[in-house]
Amino acid sequence: MFNPVSLPISRISDPVLSANGISLDMLRLDLTDEVISGNKWFKLKYNLMDAKSRGCKAVLSFGGAYSNHIHALAKAGLDLGIRTIGVIRGEPEYAKNPTLSDAIDWGMELHFVNRKDYRLRSDPGFLSHLREQYDCPYIVPEGGSNALALKGAMEILPSELIEFVCPDHVILPCGTGGTLSGIALSCRDTPVLGIPVLKNAGFLYDDISALMGLVTDNVPDNWSLDLEGHFGGYGKVSDQLLQFMQSFEVNNQIQLDPIYTAKMMLRIFQRIELGEYSRGSRLLAIHTGGLQGRRGAGCSAVPANCT
Ligand SMILES: *Cc1c(COP(=O)(O)O)cnc(C)c1O
Repeated sequence: MFNPVSLPISRISDPVLSANGISLDMLRLDLTDEVISGNKWFKLKYNLMDAKSRGCKAVLSFGGAYSNHIHALAKAGLDLGIRTIGVIRGEPEYAKNPTLSDAIDWGMELHFVNRKDYRLRSDPGFLSHLREQYDCPYIVPEGGSNALALKGAMEILPSELIEFVCPDHVILPCGTGGTLSGIALSCRDTPVLGIPVLKNAGFLYDDISALMGLVTDNVPDNWSLDLEGHFGGYGKVSDQLLQFMQSFEVNNQIQLDPIYTAKMMLRIFQRIELGEYSRGSRLLAIHTGGLQGRRGAGCSAVPANCT
């Protein structure tokens, strides 16, 4: 697996930025590894090391049928010689989709559950049943967000990088908030803004505080959320979003994914136009990867000249 000693930073260009006197850089987690790209690599790293050091023969985790986390775990398991099991929300026919076909090719065993059972994913009884069935695997929660994931995410923005870029604001897309938690913990003097891609994501305030509480008694308050950047909700891909993605990719030669990073970037441009950032502000956006998701639900609508 790739060891990101220093990840590239790209300067973004756009008339909206120059007109408002804002500089926008992008940290390219999409370049961590050809396959295990983005924040999932950081979130898995210490979990897999822990599984190995405990002598666990398998790692089991949870996700939807297009999950970047499941995709990354399957490949990491192959690379490290660890058996992997993916508990997937949905029907077995999803196994044919590109995300899960890759996972199967890399040796992951899939265990499909209906929506009702999937809700039991942190229920002790359900977990002990899975432990029995799969010979006591190491269990990583959905999205990979646990204390060891935060430890990995704290390495995304090392202090040398913050000193080098000197951002006034760090901005990233949020699912469970695990990545935001690690980043906000690692740069306590910089405001960190999360843009949830789920609708009605106000519950994340508590979830993120709880996640941070797993690794520190001194939960920082340098972070906030913008709940208006979901553009219709999780997995919803509007024409506006696709058009934005396409023009961003043409202007900057950087691919985005429609689930997370395109929503974040569109929302950043909207916030600039809303006057949220004063002239001279330096913004650092985190490209959290996830480009495999371009093949997923709703993304077949991505125009051919955009892939
Ligand atoms: C999973 C994922 C996120 C969300 O990460 P959390 O730690 O769950 O908030 C953001 N971007 C991409 C590309 C992802 O795959």
